[in-house]
Amino acid sequence: MPMREECKHFQSRTYDSGEVARFCVLDLAPDAPWKCPENCPSYAPRYADVGWDHGSLIEVLDRAATARRALSRRAPPPEELAQVRIPVLDEEGAIAAVTTLASALGINIFDMEIAHSVEGDRGVLVLVIDAASAPAFSAALAERGHRSGVTPIGTVR
Ligand code: SF4
Repeated sequence: MPMREECKHFQSRTYDSGEVARFCVLDLAPDAPWKCPENCPSYAPRYADVGWDHGSLIEVLDRAATARRALSRRAPPPEELAQVRIPVLDEEGAIAAVTTLASALGINIFDMEIAHSVEGDRGVLVLVIDAASAPAFSAALAERGHRSGVTPIGTVR
């Protein structure tokens, strides 16, 4: 089976040299970058999907203790979820500011990912939250100077 790019444990990175690394962050794909094992028991579809290189959730969690606390284990069905994309500067505290705001509003974060730009100084933080909370979260972000885009998970390709 080819690499399952829709699995949340799949990652790709493009280096300055143009070389692209494709791998499983759980190191469960001995045939990477070509194949994932058939019927991998750790396969988990990602809710957050972005058009750029997939950043490492582990990196994000390392950099934002608040985010670790904000992540929830129980997610509602996908049709009740929305993806919120927030452009952020790649700097200390940028992710924590957003996740702390979500916590302050009582909004659970069910999945999270950061896509880094090729230039390296900015990225897009992608959070998955319940769709009903998305308008209020987006408005609160706007009050703090953050643009955001909201897409219902059911319409994410
Ligand atoms: S967890 Fe399994 S399906 Fe997902 S990327 Fe790793 S090897 Fe592939």
